[in-house]
Amino acid sequence: MEFLWLFIIYVTFLVISISAFCLLSGRSRNSLDRFLHRIDKVLHHVLPSWLQRYYMGCFQTRSGAFVILHLLLDLLVFAEYSWECVGYSLELEISQIFILLPYTLIILNLYFFYQCCAKDPGIVTKQKEALYVQIYEYDGVFFFPGNKCPTCQLTKPARSKHCSVCGVCVHRFDHHCVWVNNCIGALNIRYFLIYLFSLTLTVISLAAVISRFLLKVVFLSHMMSAAYIDLDGHEQMVNIVFVVQHLFLTFPRILFLLGFLFILVLILGGYSCFLLYLCFTNQTSNEWYKSRRVNAHKGYSRGILINIKDIFQPPDIVKRD
Ligand SMILES: [Zn+2]
Ligand SMILES: [Zn+2]
Repeated sequence: MEFLWLFIIYVTFLVISISAFCLLSGRSRNSLDRFLHRIDKVLHHVLPSWLQRYYMGCFQTRSGAFVILHLLLDLLVFAEYSWECVGYSLELEISQIFILLPYTLIILNLYFFYQCCAKDPGIVTKQKEALYVQIYEYDGVFFFPGNKCPTCQLTKPARSKHCSVCGVCVHRFDHHCVWVNNCIGALNIRYFLIYLFSLTLTVISLAAVISRFLLKVVFLSHMMSAAYIDLDGHEQMVNIVFVVQHLFLTFPRILFLLGFLFILVLILGGYSCFLLYLCFTNQTSNEWYKSRRVNAHKGYSRGILINIKDIFQPPDIVKRD
């Protein structure tokens, strides 16, 4: 029974987290915005008013709810890793550097997570409006000169977009990320990239240590060469399914954690590759989405090296206050 409850909680948790991640980490995609708008409308009729206020607070205005959830997930994963895996792995004489690597990576990751949350993404203000307008040329396809944001009442620089969650226009707008509770734009995209890569590496390193530990358990116990008596009384050689079942019953939490980490590696790895592609081609997520419909759009690419420099060393004019 305990096993079943753990499994139900696990599946619910995975479905909620992954759906939230996919739906809410990038609200720049227009069709997604429309889809979320429809959900908002339905919820407006269904939810009681106190729950509506909470929902609005979490998803439609800037809110630290996902930042707290992110930190809580980090804490839970590392608590389980430290509680069960580290002790066993040390007993099995797995390299200490290998075991400590996830801790080093998560410290690096938390530093860049903080930078993403705290740094100005490139908010267009009255003082900076004229400077931002000079940075990129208007392409005449997605961005036109002289356009004013109806909310901010400021001239929209090329590659900027108004974020409805933050209520500001952001220069070289990529997307609004609920996990860092901030827009990702010209001035913090470099921190976001390092944050995402370090998070992917943290998850890979955790999965690698846990896999190494489980493999060592299997080899040291000579499980694969053992036999068992089935329900009909016949002797059967142990196969991989039997080993996985045995590991599930012996280390249920570690196996659940490993499954969760594998799913995260796929999601984060895929998203990292996508952002790397955008970085190499000097596109924002917002422009990438729009350019799928407009073949004539040339974009802002000026060669891989200059494109990377554009992100990691934004033009000096941007840095000026
Ligand atoms: Zn605006
Ligand atoms: Zn925003």
